[in-house]
Amino acid sequence: MTALDTATYHINYQKYTFYDEYKRIQPNIKTTQPQLTKFWSVSLDPKYTSEILRFIKQKFSADDYLKQIKRIKKVMDDSKHFHLEILICPVQHMESHVLIDMLKKWLTTPSDFELTLTTASVPLNKPYSKELCMSWSQLYWPLVWKGNPMVQEIRESYKNFKRGTVERYLKEACNLSNSSIASYPIATIIVDPIKDQVMASSVDKRSGEDPMIHSVMSCINQIADNERRRRKKLGDHKETNNYLCLNYDVYTTHEPCTMCAMALLHSRIGRLFFIKPSSVTGAIGENSGCKYMIHLSCTLNWKYEAFQYVGDRLQPSKLDSSLSV
Ligand SMILES: [Zn+2]
Repeated sequence: MTALDTATYHINYQKYTFYDEYKRIQPNIKTTQPQLTKFWSVSLDPKYTSEILRFIKQKFSADDYLKQIKRIKKVMDDSKHFHLEILICPVQHMESHVLIDMLKKWLTTPSDFELTLTTASVPLNKPYSKELCMSWSQLYWPLVWKGNPMVQEIRESYKNFKRGTVERYLKEACNLSNSSIASYPIATIIVDPIKDQVMASSVDKRSGEDPMIHSVMSCINQIADNERRRRKKLGDHKETNNYLCLNYDVYTTHEPCTMCAMALLHSRIGRLFFIKPSSVTGAIGENSGCKYMIHLSCTLNWKYEAFQYVGDRLQPSKLDSSLSV
């Protein structure tokens, strides 16, 4: 990166920080491993290329994550004839006999043509260098190199990062934490970023009787209760939006545990901001206790961005780092 880039964007590409205070938690380039998923693939003669591409477009075009993966692999067999191997869909999405029936109906192959599916292991995460892209392409399945995804992602993320707003809500969470007399002085605020409106806020309420009411869970419960009340009032019983916190921002004083990080994922938040890492139970940071980086897992059906505040101006109430959050 040039000095101008850094000055203009306030991004440190080595540390993944914005304004030197907000660290975007993303995979370390050097430790990135392929996250492989099994896909159905079918072998066909090249003359069926346009038919199979139409089939994929019509039946599986919503599979956006496949943009980095080539759909078709050209393979030379022992008799030096080319055939195509075409990637259809993840194995877990469809049983083989259902897919074979669909393909038989669609393709104009002869009636005695034996259509067989094989499985291919495909990396769903993007390789972070051209060399890695080539290596994974050879080892697993051909991938498309579209430039360093880290730089693209971090710039895209920066565009939506309003420093003043983030700091305001983190301060609010700190104030809640500092005024809490609970044994776990942890606070969470959930915000609708489009309306810039607080949707829920809570301190930790866990007790011997109910050890599960962490501040994140308490906020999600508040939003669920409000949604139930809203629907009841309107007589609206349709489940139009099952994702309670769709694209909301979550500000919390301490890195969430696995339960809370998963609950945020299931309610489909957009971004998580936390201040203190939880070295034993944290489920977000690369070096946190669980080392899950749950917000980025390719094997789950949603991802969210996560930032840790690494400045020294915002201080929530002190907490033993071994305690669960
Ligand atoms: Zn928790």
